[in-house]
Amino acid sequence: MNPHKSALFWIFFLTIIWTCTRPPYADTNRSYKKQARGYGKELMEYPLSDSFETADGWVGTTNFSMRKPNFVIIHHTAQDSTEQTLRTFTLPRTKVSSHYVIGHDGKIYHMLHDLLRAHHAGISKWGNTTDLNSTSIGIELDNNGSEPFSDEQINSLLTVLDKLQKAYSIPVTNFLGHADIAPGRKVDPSRYFPWEKLAKAGYGIWYDTTRTQVPADFNMMQGLRIIGYNTTNEKNAIQSYRIHFTPQDTSRQLNEADRKIIYDLMKKS
Ligand SMILES: [Zn+2]
Repeated sequence: MNPHKSALFWIFFLTIIWTCTRPPYADTNRSYKKQARGYGKELMEYPLSDSFETADGWVGTTNFSMRKPNFVIIHHTAQDSTEQTLRTFTLPRTKVSSHYVIGHDGKIYHMLHDLLRAHHAGISKWGNTTDLNSTSIGIELDNNGSEPFSDEQINSLLTVLDKLQKAYSIPVTNFLGHADIAPGRKVDPSRYFPWEKLAKAGYGIWYDTTRTQVPADFNMMQGLRIIGYNTTNEKNAIQSYRIHFTPQDTSRQLNEADRKIIYDLMKKS
């Protein structure tokens, strides 16, 4: 082999080695760091440019902290693998992301700082809170939407919820599904999701209607609205309520059993 060919061979060989040994998300990790640095710079601005143009209109207080999330929104990915979801959340053109992705095998991936805003909720409303992206942590569970969630995955989810609850004092009522905050637009997590188990662990509310006495004039749609559902479209609100609380029932009509359930949930909200 002449020296020229030999040099070419080594360049080719080393490029292959470099490509194969490079961490798969090295480029997107660099992009994350760059964006986070940009936001850090914004926070460091001093005095703030919106201080009404006068230097003495800025007085730095000594007492402050970072804003904290107050909701947790759970999703299923509706994709075929965790790798597919990680790829989706690292492609700029998709514009979507979540703070955590939990694999079917229970592996937890953290994709951005909890105090930053992920793009997972979209147009959403719960009670009078809109823009849930600004106030919530998004958790995506690797699941195609028509299969049960594995025990490993739910156990990992409980570990993440425990950490979030302790770190941010998230109210028990504020652990919700995407379907809850976007009726008619979203149906995740699916009817397979174990909300009752979560509620028993302290994340989200559940009902016990054994001794529930419902006043005769109780209006179920008003009850759903008080719980938090956007009832602008009643059928959609009922569908979201059913996915979360009565997954075995697929009708969009409310019945006598629902009267008790909704009244009990409303009392706990
Ligand atoms: Zn979702």
